[in-house]
Amino acid sequence: MIDTHSHLLDEVFKDDLDDCIKRCKDNNVNKIVLVGFERITNNKAQELSKKYDIFYPTAGIHPEEVKDISDLDYLEDFIKNNKVYAIGECGLDYHWTKETKELQKIIFEGQIKMSIKYNLPLIIHSRDAIEDTYNILEKYKGQLRGVMHCYSGSLEMAQRFLSLGLYIGLDGPVTFKNAKEPKRVAENIPLDRLLLETDCPWMTPSPYRGKRNESSYVVYVCEEIAKLRNMTYREIEEATDRNASSLFNI
Ligand SMILES: [Zn+2]
Repeated sequence: MIDTHSHLLDEVFKDDLDDCIKRCKDNNVNKIVLVGFERITNNKAQELSKKYDIFYPTAGIHPEEVKDISDLDYLEDFIKNNKVYAIGECGLDYHWTKETKELQKIIFEGQIKMSIKYNLPLIIHSRDAIEDTYNILEKYKGQLRGVMHCYSGSLEMAQRFLSLGLYIGLDGPVTFKNAKEPKRVAENIPLDRLLLETDCPWMTPSPYRGKRNESSYVVYVCEEIAKLRNMTYREIEEATDRNASSLFNI
């Protein structure tokens, strides 16, 4: 199984990263997309991927981390000089940082263009900004390859992103009892567009909700989606592995 969105590079794993990786292997989680989101974590993803072959590093500028237009020169330089499997995470986040809205849009659009230019998939973060996210992406319809990461919108909106050619990434919230809409999305989107993620250390699934999340817990996301779709664990695992391998070329 593949965790297509992990931040095992976070400080909270510094004392037991080896144990976390062992628990992945014990649960048959054999590949992890290790997601950077600004300069320090982009470097960290490279460093850890050289040390552990389970990791596939990305590089991006998260909307909460935008500084100025030079972010794009930095990132282009970085992806030319390092092996990355995706651009991102990138996108729009108006939840905490509305005041950088305009700059966020510029840095997001720059990363979309880079993903097309370098033929790399995009990892898209969107929080309280779903319409703007869609409108910017729509300009590039026909050229896009990527995932709406940690998707939390409606099924109807998911269908619009699917029509742009994007995948939908689902995480821990799909396992929560009261998560009606994520469950509806999990049940109804085409299986060949679904990806499993953890977004660890955040978004912890049941039964560990409230504790630190880690990549091995992606098995709980798989289990829940299998249940919702009336399929076997193995069927969801195989389908989502195929999707992840093809999107990220891993
Ligand atoms: Zn993330």
